[in-house]
Amino acid sequence: MTSISYRLQAILSTIQAARQIAHANQAVQLLAVSKAQSAAAIREAYAVGQRKFGENYLQEALDKQVQLSDLTIQWHFIGPIQSNKTQAIAQHFDWVHSVDRLKIAQRLSDARSSNSQPLQICVQVNISNEASKSGVLPADLANTVADIAKLPNLQLRGLMAIPAPSQDPNVQRQQFKQVRQCYDNLLAEGFALDTLSIGMSDDYAVAIEQGATIVRIGSALFGARN
Ligand SMILES: *Cc1c(COP(=O)(O)O)cnc(C)c1O
Repeated sequence: MTSISYRLQAILSTIQAARQIAHANQAVQLLAVSKAQSAAAIREAYAVGQRKFGENYLQEALDKQVQLSDLTIQWHFIGPIQSNKTQAIAQHFDWVHSVDRLKIAQRLSDARSSNSQPLQICVQVNISNEASKSGVLPADLANTVADIAKLPNLQLRGLMAIPAPSQDPNVQRQQFKQVRQCYDNLLAEGFALDTLSIGMSDDYAVAIEQGATIVRIGSALFGARN
């Protein structure tokens, strides 16, 4: 086995173990975060069954998509979005996790062809409450989500968050709980959501305990990035 296939199996086992330990009933999908990784590394993960890949930088992703056009990959955009990139993102990705303002959502909807499947969207929440961090503040979430849900060529699936890094499971848990609370509030308001995109290499077991349905894992799968 190559190290990527070995690590992929180990991560999938850890995901199942985390679900059992936490009595988590939700299905949990692995998004392989392939930023700074080669097309060859993606091909290796694909060869052992991985189909969903996440990228942060548009040009890097487009280059790899060309090299991997013979594969049936579901591409997720998870990086910061500048307005002038929305056209290409709407055309070349299946999912976008990092929608952090209404204007970006509007531009993605405008650029998505109505002949395609709707673009699958998560709204990024800013739980650190720092104005410098991207994401919608919890207090603004209900209004923003209501506006985004009306856009024609998008399908709003849920929330995404990137908590401040911490090695302390209690701090991780506290942060994920806040995201989960935002998600539950939106469900209670009647939004039909099914996706909580939380958890990365260092904290995905805790994220699963708190309800993650997609974990976004890079270095634990592909090794450290250059
Ligand atoms: C890089 C990145 C990840 C993966 O991080 P790892 O710690 O390598 O697992 C997940 N989500 C986002 C938004 C990222 O930018």
